[in-house]
Amino acid sequence: MATIVLRNPRREVSVDGPKRVKVVLRDLDIDADTVLVIRGDELLTREDVIEDGDHIEIRPVISGGAATTTKCRRCKAKAVVELRRHNTAFCKECFLHFFRNQVSRAIESDRMLREGDRVLVAVSGGKDSLALWDVLIDLGYDTTGFHIVLGTGDEYAAESLRICRSFAGSRGVELVVSDLAAEFGFTIPDLPHDTGRPTCSACGLTKRHLISKAARDGGFDVIAIGHNLDDEAAVLLGNTLRWDAEYLARQGPVLGDDTGFVRKVKPLHRLSEKETATYAFLRRIDYLVEECPLVAGNTQLRYKQALDLLEQAAPGTKASFYGGFIDRAKERFTAEGPPALHACSSCGMPTPGDVCAFCRMVEMKRRKASRESA
Ligand code: SF4
Ligand code: ZN
Repeated sequence: MATIVLRNPRREVSVDGPKRVKVVLRDLDIDADTVLVIRGDELLTREDVIEDGDHIEIRPVISGGAATTTKCRRCKAKAVVELRRHNTAFCKECFLHFFRNQVSRAIESDRMLREGDRVLVAVSGGKDSLALWDVLIDLGYDTTGFHIVLGTGDEYAAESLRICRSFAGSRGVELVVSDLAAEFGFTIPDLPHDTGRPTCSACGLTKRHLISKAARDGGFDVIAIGHNLDDEAAVLLGNTLRWDAEYLARQGPVLGDDTGFVRKVKPLHRLSEKETATYAFLRRIDYLVEECPLVAGNTQLRYKQALDLLEQAAPGTKASFYGGFIDRAKERFTAEGPPALHACSSCGMPTPGDVCAFCRMVEMKRRKASRESA
């Protein structure tokens, strides 16, 4: 018997070996493109065989790829990862080379970072942000991490912070931590009831505000965010379904050059979720596998699931949808020029009104709390 441990939700099943990975996944009704299959410290491909006595972890990554070859395309050694959207496979070293190369090319082609830039990296403790931080350190950039304790579940928040601290400690880099409860007296789960904003919308506004402020106050040149291809394709699908021309004009791997905010860049925007998960695993990065406990209401998740269905049937769909938009369609949408900005009278950040959206939300929360305690 082999033991198969599935994460999210956690459960264990036993299978009789020997069996190929693809057979086990098919029997468990799992799409190979959405998981990493892990035995000890190695990744298994669909053609690998699970033997009796094996202990296998099946770790979800939400989306990704797989191919028919199990030899590395570059060096012909045994492949550890299959990328179906590229119809190829790589061994560990060649995959890491491919990943770094993709990040370097994205940085160069979109002029995301310049030599000497001080980069503030937004890190949640998940695979994408830590993979991004790791690869930027590896490529020699001057980076500092920025983590927000959002209070999205006590254990989840504590574990996210622990993981970010441990990563920073192991690489000898600085981590700046902002604690919402300590600095503002509330956490994300408090906001929907008191402000009427959906949880993820309140959380997004909070994260955008705090990192922009930290970057400005700390004198950073640029903010790096770990959004990957799956994230960007899901945002694009949402913007397209609503034909939101203003958002379509603004969506892209570099944001904010002309807005008075510190520039934001997304060096992983052409790498899939499975590719970032594979990079994090192969680099032995300890990341938080569990998802945010409040993710259920996130509309982007539905768009991701819809795109996963299309990707399963036609690998490469997400890349051509998003890449085609960036390369050929984005220029057809025009945004209105940036509005005249003033300093928020409460926090000093640029805003078109007197008070920025974050400070208005905080004020609404305070008023509601004081009315309820009166
Ligand atoms: Fe915030 Fe929603 Fe993401 Fe959780 S799932 S971290 S609440 S945006
Ligand atoms: Zn403000």
